[in-house]
Amino acid sequence: MFINFPETLKAGREYTIDFYYSGNPVETARFGGITFKKDSSGHPWINTACEDIGASVWWPNKDQWRDEVENMEINVEIPNDLVDVSNGKFVGKKDLGDGYTRWDWLVHYPINSYDVSLNIGNYQHFSDQLGDVPLDFYALPEDLDKAKKQFMQAKGMLEAFQHYFGEYPFIKDGYKLIQVPYSGMEHQSAVTYGNHFANGYLERDWTGVGISLRFDFIIVHESAHEWFGNSITAQDRSDMWIHEGWATYLECLYVEYMYGKEDGLKYTNAYKRKVQNKEPIITKRGINGTPPQDEYFKGALFINTLRSIVNDDDRWFKLIHDFYQHFKYQNIMTEDVVAYFNQQTGMNLTPVFNQYLRHTQIPILDLKFDSANGTVSYRWEVDEPDFAMPVRVGSPQNWQTIVPTTKWQTMPTSIDKNDFQIATDLYFVSAFLQ
Ligand SMILES: [Zn+2]
Repeated sequence: MFINFPETLKAGREYTIDFYYSGNPVETARFGGITFKKDSSGHPWINTACEDIGASVWWPNKDQWRDEVENMEINVEIPNDLVDVSNGKFVGKKDLGDGYTRWDWLVHYPINSYDVSLNIGNYQHFSDQLGDVPLDFYALPEDLDKAKKQFMQAKGMLEAFQHYFGEYPFIKDGYKLIQVPYSGMEHQSAVTYGNHFANGYLERDWTGVGISLRFDFIIVHESAHEWFGNSITAQDRSDMWIHEGWATYLECLYVEYMYGKEDGLKYTNAYKRKVQNKEPIITKRGINGTPPQDEYFKGALFINTLRSIVNDDDRWFKLIHDFYQHFKYQNIMTEDVVAYFNQQTGMNLTPVFNQYLRHTQIPILDLKFDSANGTVSYRWEVDEPDFAMPVRVGSPQNWQTIVPTTKWQTMPTSIDKNDFQIATDLYFVSAFLQ
């Protein structure tokens, strides 16, 4: 859209523009963009989910990630017998006297375009409270009982993420969970849910190690985006691992918070089987490119590797808490993340971030054993020439931390090649022993 103004606009002054538009959107893309369905009792059920294709599939906007509006009013006029649930705080509804009712919502925080949503249907509403956070839940009548049971998991989820990162980012808007006909989406303060009111992901053991079926994947993953994706947002889709790698890592933290560190680690490492290593996680900028699926699982395994590099849980949890607090409500790029981690740790982690995010292969630890002399030589085989990363090797009962670089180093070892181990559950690396 191009706009010609009748006079030259003056810098520093605020102007407003009214847009009037109409249309008949058609279903397209992953979750349909905007869909016009009916529920089992024949009521209209209309939902939006447009992250991939972009919000301009159903409303005009600056359809990009680098800038967000400060706040937003959403007013939706629908037939009297239906309910609209959008983002933000419910302000009120007005009977327009013509068979339609207007539902008014107010978003108090910056919001990215793809998060703006409509959920129109024959919704039943119930509510709860967790500390200062109002909780509002919406489900279809036939699923209300199941929702009342399953949606209680929102409380434990909020407690876990508030524990690690600080208060829920959108308290004035409240937290909402809304039943929809697709699996789910992180719409800001109005998370949508279609996970069959069952634990796991669409009733599967998502990570395959017996932990996923203890909780509802969609409630935990999509809500994790309230901190990473909605509060902290990437400026470009190229750097979307800031949303998905972190949200996946937050699942791991949820497991650790609920079931302990060992299960957290087991859950994290179960994601290895989903990693492809076919192309770098960060894609070309400025072309609305979609990163490969590795942004989720390899992203989380990389963040877990960073934790092992920091090698001090108290320090790690303070670091990621402060990282979130420093950048909350902002739009950032990977460079901002790297600079923050470098500054806070006093380490040069740039080659490590680069290797995991901007190259295809994970680091390979080359080990050469000399049994005659009782030594082992080691180095990293990587794309980044300045790559240096500590790693625990030897025996799990008595790990030894070494700091290989891309140059060969040699140390004595009493462990035989066949018994020599690498802590690959703490560092996402592979090894080549010869
Ligand atoms: Zn996600």
